[in-house]
Amino acid sequence: MFSTMENRSVIVTGGSKGIGLGIARVFASAGAKVMLAGRDEAALQKAAAEVAEEFDGGMVATCVTDVADQPSCQALAAATVETFGGIDVLCANAGIFPSARLQELDRAALDEVMGVNFYGTAFCVAACLEELSRSELGRVVVTSSITGPITGYPGWAHYGASKAAQLGYVRTAAMELAPRGITINAVLPGNILTEGLQDMGQEYLEGMAAAIPQRRLGAVEDIGYAALFFASAQAGYVTGQSLVVDGGQVLPEDPGALQEM
Ligand code: NAP
Repeated sequence: MFSTMENRSVIVTGGSKGIGLGIARVFASAGAKVMLAGRDEAALQKAAAEVAEEFDGGMVATCVTDVADQPSCQALAAATVETFGGIDVLCANAGIFPSARLQELDRAALDEVMGVNFYGTAFCVAACLEELSRSELGRVVVTSSITGPITGYPGWAHYGASKAAQLGYVRTAAMELAPRGITINAVLPGNILTEGLQDMGQEYLEGMAAAIPQRRLGAVEDIGYAALFFASAQAGYVTGQSLVVDGGQVLPEDPGALQEM
C-alpha cells in the first residue's frame, strides 16, 4: 500500500491546464494540498475551482508565476510556505513547445524555450530547496519528454535540447539533494492529449496515435500517477532516474514493426 499524500504541500508549475492540471488532480485526489502556478491568473483560478469542486474539501491555491523569472519562482516558494506551511513536493512541469526550424533558432527563440523549460526547472528547485530540506519526504518531479532525450521531431530541436538539459540537471541534482533527504526524478511523457497538443491539429493527433503500440494518446492522469509514485514514501530509494510514460511509443525499431503486432 502506498503512503498517503494527506497534508503534504505540493507545487505544480504549469498547473492551470494540460499535464500540470492532471498532476494536480491526481495529487488532490490523494489528499495533498496543491499550489497551482502559471502566468494566467484567470486560467489558474478556473483550474483551482475545478479541482476544489471535484475533490470536495481539497485544499487548492494559486500563484501567478513566470518560471523563467527567478524572483517570480522565489515568490512562488514564499507564497506556498505562507499558504500551506511548507513545501514537500515540487512538480516542475511548466513548459512550452513552439515549433521553429534550425535556421530560425536565433538567440531569442533559444532563450524563450530554454528560459521556461530548463531555467524554469532550475529556478524552481533553487527557490524551494530550503523548504524541501525541512520536509521529511522532500521530492522533486520534473516533467521532461521523450522528445530530446530519446526521440526527435522536425521543428523541435530547441525544445528537445531543453528537455534533455533537464535530465542532465536531474542526475547531478540528485547527488546534491541526497544529503538533504530529497529525491529528484523525471517523467518523460510521450504524446499526451492536452489542450496544447490539440492545437497541433487532428492530422498530427491521428498520425501519432497510429505510431503508438497502444494506439492511443496518453491521458494527463497517466503522467500524474507516475509523479505520484516518485513523490511517495515508497519511492524514497529512487533518485536521479527517468520514467518513460508513452504507451510504448519509443519501442518499435521501424514503422514495419507496428504492422507486425
Ligand atoms: P500546455 O497544455 O500548453 O500547458 C502548459 C502549462 O505551463 C500551462 O499551465 C501554462 O500556463 C504553463 N506555463 C507556460 N509557460 C510558463 C511560464 N513561463 N511560467 C509558468 N507557467 C508556464 O502543455 P502540456 O502539454 O501540459 O505540457 C506540460 C509539460 O509536459 C511541459 O513541460 C511539456 O514539455 C511536457 N510534455 C508534454 C507532452 C504532451 O504530449 N502534451 C509530451 C511530452 C512532454 P500559462 O501559459 O498560463 O503560463
